[in-house]
Amino acid sequence: MPSSVILRCPSCRTLNRVPQEKLSGHPHCGQCRNVITFPTRPVNATAASFDREVSDWPEAVFVEFWSVTCGYCRMVEPVVNDIAAWRAGRLKVLKVDIQAEFSLAQRYSVMATPTFILFKNGQQVDRIDGAPREKIDLVAWVDRHLS
Ligand SMILES: [Zn+2]
Repeated sequence: MPSSVILRCPSCRTLNRVPQEKLSGHPHCGQCRNVITFPTRPVNATAASFDREVSDWPEAVFVEFWSVTCGYCRMVEPVVNDIAAWRAGRLKVLKVDIQAEFSLAQRYSVMATPTFILFKNGQQVDRIDGAPREKIDLVAWVDRHLS
C-alpha cells in the first residue's frame, strides 16, 4: 500500500500529498490551510457531473452502474458502502443510476447491472460487467488497483 495519497483541496483546488495515517485526522491544505474534506460514502453521479467527478479526483475512482430494480445491486450495496468508507481518501466511489442516466450507461456500454468500472487518471483500468457467476470479493478487486 502506498504511504500517501494525493487529495485536491475543495477550497482552493491545490493538490496535496497526505500521509495515509493523517487521513483520519482532518488534514489541512498546505496552500489555504482549510480542512481537506473527501467523500466517505458513495457519491451519486449524473451525466452533468460525471466527467468532473472523475477528473477532479487524483486517486482511483470506483463507479457502480446500478439499477433500482436489480436484486444483485441491492445485495452488493453494503459492500460498496463499506469500500467507500474503508478506502476513503484513497478512492472515490461514484454511483450511476442507469435508468436516470441512460446516456452514461450507453457511453460505457453498460449492458447489465451491476457494472463496476475502475478509473485511474481518467482512464478505465478494469471493469466487471454484470453479476459475477461466482461471488467476487469486490474489496480485494479494488485493492489490487490501489497499490
Ligand atoms: Zn486549499
